[in-house]
Amino acid sequence: MKRSFKFISLLLTLVIVLGTLTACGKKEDYINDEGSSNVETYSDGVYQGIGSGNGGDILLEVTIKDGEISSIEVLDHKETEILSDAAFQKIIQGVLDSQSVNIDHVTGATFSSAGIILALKDALKKAGGNDEIFKKGEKINLADREEELNQTYDVIVIGGGGAGLSAAIEAKAAGANVVLLEKMSSVGGNTLVSGGGLNVPGTEQQKKLGVEDSVDLFIEDTLNGGDNINKKELVRVIAENALPTTKWLIDEIKVEFMPDRLQQFGGHSVARALIPKNNQGTELIKKLKNHGDDLGVIFKMETKAEKLIMDENNKVIGVMATNSAGQEITFNANKGVIIASGGFGANLEMRKKYNPEKDEKYKTTDVAGTTGDGITMVEDIGGDLIHMEHIQTYPTCNPKTGIISYVANSRFDGAVLLNQEGIRFVEEMDRRDVISEAILSQTNGESYLVWGQEVEEVGHMTEVHKNEYDVFEKMDLIYKADTLEELANHFDIDKVKFMESIEKYNGYVDNGKDEEFNRRGSLKHIAKGPFYIQKVTPAIHHTMGGIVINEDARVLDKDGNIIQGLFAAGEVTGGIHGTNRLGGNAVTDVIVFGRIAGQKVVE
Ligand code: ADP
Repeated sequence: MKRSFKFISLLLTLVIVLGTLTACGKKEDYINDEGSSNVETYSDGVYQGIGSGNGGDILLEVTIKDGEISSIEVLDHKETEILSDAAFQKIIQGVLDSQSVNIDHVTGATFSSAGIILALKDALKKAGGNDEIFKKGEKINLADREEELNQTYDVIVIGGGGAGLSAAIEAKAAGANVVLLEKMSSVGGNTLVSGGGLNVPGTEQQKKLGVEDSVDLFIEDTLNGGDNINKKELVRVIAENALPTTKWLIDEIKVEFMPDRLQQFGGHSVARALIPKNNQGTELIKKLKNHGDDLGVIFKMETKAEKLIMDENNKVIGVMATNSAGQEITFNANKGVIIASGGFGANLEMRKKYNPEKDEKYKTTDVAGTTGDGITMVEDIGGDLIHMEHIQTYPTCNPKTGIISYVANSRFDGAVLLNQEGIRFVEEMDRRDVISEAILSQTNGESYLVWGQEVEEVGHMTEVHKNEYDVFEKMDLIYKADTLEELANHFDIDKVKFMESIEKYNGYVDNGKDEEFNRRGSLKHIAKGPFYIQKVTPAIHHTMGGIVINEDARVLDKDGNIIQGLFAAGEVTGGIHGTNRLGGNAVTDVIVFGRIAGQKVVE
């Protein structure tokens, strides 16, 4: 019987046709010991089910026809776009093909997978199913298998975040035959879950908003932010290429940026961060992936690069990889290999190895795939590493999950940070490391961000990031009230001191100068309700150390010599950001150097 499924999100409707998933490899036949014995169990009809995923409830609808599961529609969910798309597609297709919900989770999307399976079971119970039936047969393995275990391309890119996608596109556009290996079930990496903001001096937005900026000022801020141990020549590459790269993103990749919005992240002396549509990295990743698909870049998902292959002259000529079907594949590269596998924020042991203080007491904002694989692979062949001990925490994250809070970016629009005692303790526009350390030394290592309508109206953070707001509210980590007193009461903060602090701050706004911390940027009153208070704490966010590269994104060995055939770009590289990366500098770095790597490997 031919079956189809529909996947509907709130914003877009995708109709996914049976068979699309088999494109990148031969799908193993689904083997279920007891065959489709569920057929007689389910009663015909349409049934809804709910399951709890990563961001909230997943609601879907299952249609049973002639006793079989004939279609599955996702009606609503709050999972991360792109990441969950891959999991939903794979699992739904697997269920339709096998007629079983005894099915594997998808790599890198454990909670979304679990959520959709729960929702399916919930719906199927209404159709007459039960836990005994759901457990029947062998667990369905969703792995795609490769037919050819020895494959040759011009260029191999390892990792499908912002750097890898940009590199693959440029190499392909220059005429190379390109394969991109991604160990997760979807592309995106940390770039996907970022706010997507990138610093660029000289944009139309700066002209429109009257912001005076220059390449040199951008360089100066970045060097100060990194305590001047940054590799200056690499910082200059980013600063000089930021504007042309933005033009490329807009003209070629069709990325949409907010036309009238700039953010001034901590440590920057002017507002210079462009913000993509929806203020999410999804806008960048979605458009880059589409462009890569259009050009004909070959994507191999759930395929993990394990080792670099070298010839007798120490030139890198390929990559040994494994996939989720347990196969070992040799990818040969005619022209070169580009490592774009991201940082090591999600690798606790590696973090502790290089900086014992960054241990289990920290949660992380990073996606599960950022385990430093590229760094280890390069180290194994004698490549040089730099600044490995510099690991950054992001100051304002969810205290229960470690996930970065974008609602809390209301800080850049004028919100203030207070402690449990109701007192301000740091300049809110200071560097991430400074604010993080300041928060960790407060009671419970936590802090409260407070703002009212004057700040909310600048960036509408609670609306732009509504899904995240709902999660914080459900966890009782954010509270909205008509009066400031109610905010203090809600989190048991010393009310008198809290009110005094806000009153004092409003006085600074009146005089245009923050007498206590000399806050940068424009000061905003906190006087007009409704008001917001949000509990936040730091989590591991970015690893500044990594592979040593030159201005052409070529990897260097310990003597400073080029390792032939090898390039690296993005968070996997080190030295660009010094001790501390400034907000909005990662995306600029990954796209600029990703493109350079893709261009140079073909030259
Ligand atoms: P960047 O910002 O530098 O592009 P990201 O974190 O956005 O870095 O993306 C890095 C990507 O590399 C992630 O999607 C991650 O899953 C992937 N990755 C990490 N290690 C490997 C590996 N060994 N093989 C293939 N992909 C990998």
